[in-house]
Amino acid sequence: MTRVLIIYTGGTVGMIYDEKTRALRPIGFSEIRNSMPELYRLGFEFMVHPFRSPLDSSNMQPDVWVEIAETIENTYEFYDGFVILHGSDTMSFTASALSFMLENLGKPVVLTGSQLPIGEIRTDARENIITAMEIAATRSGDKALVPEVCIYFDYLLFRGNRTKKYNAEKFEAFYSMNYPSLAEAGIDIKFKTQYIAPQSGGPFKVHKNLDPNITVLKIFPGITQGTVQGILHTPGIRGVILETFGSGNASTAKWFIQCLREAVDAGIIILDITQCDGGSVEMGRYETSKYLAEIGITSGFDMTFEAAITKMMYLLGQGLSNPEVKALLETPLRGELTRV
Ligand code: ASP
Repeated sequence: MTRVLIIYTGGTVGMIYDEKTRALRPIGFSEIRNSMPELYRLGFEFMVHPFRSPLDSSNMQPDVWVEIAETIENTYEFYDGFVILHGSDTMSFTASALSFMLENLGKPVVLTGSQLPIGEIRTDARENIITAMEIAATRSGDKALVPEVCIYFDYLLFRGNRTKKYNAEKFEAFYSMNYPSLAEAGIDIKFKTQYIAPQSGGPFKVHKNLDPNITVLKIFPGITQGTVQGILHTPGIRGVILETFGSGNASTAKWFIQCLREAVDAGIIILDITQCDGGSVEMGRYETSKYLAEIGITSGFDMTFEAAITKMMYLLGQGLSNPEVKALLETPLRGELTRV
């Protein structure tokens, strides 16, 4: 019999409107289960791993990612798939982090949540949870059909490390601008197998060391030297996500180039990603990006901000040399980027 583990971390999905306090309050999974008798008609076994006290995902931290990864590691052999119930705010970060932490994943890890709590009449939670469970249980022969960390939300399944929460209001809260969806749910769930990662065949390995000593430099017209210097001189940082314009372009002001060069020379790894949600960094296409490559800045190609942050934390946690980290940042490890 197929078995799915639900890891319940919290989020709006597990909240209920409390008539007394007139506010949303988190509920335990038993109350979710009571709201969803259809869970028992799925035709496969499921167990629930409730996670600490339910979290608003704005409180998500790398140590919780490690706990989720460990839960999957400890139960990996016993279950055919995993569903993680998670707040939508940081779901793309968690999905991206887990994609790097879970190497040679052979089973589905599907994150889902909802925009309206399970107790609301018009809730999107019911459909999201049921279909995520079905996807986690889907096989092709004796293997899982989707051996990836993904997000299922509002009838679409996405590769997790390609997603971004782009809407705080619509049921359609996520998109994946640079990679097609992996499945669409209608009357049937239509899997687009050509976009789903194949089974890797290698041994499943869980990486638990993440280095959060990174920072972000998001440029804008008018940014001052003091701001740039302040960010690049953050004590203890080892990596910077440089959010640039368009296809990876930035100011050619002498002081700006000098600040970046000094940081690179001091051994800080700078990763160039674009502020645009769609498209890719193409270093060298314009004068305003050519110099970035020349001073040793690494291209993030079409990686999302969420993937860039978590990939940097993951690689810096692996005890690699700077040239190794830089080379791997530019290499697709879990389908998170396409090189141009
Ligand atoms: N603040 C909530 C969270 O991320 C929002 C949600 O679940 O949609 O936990």
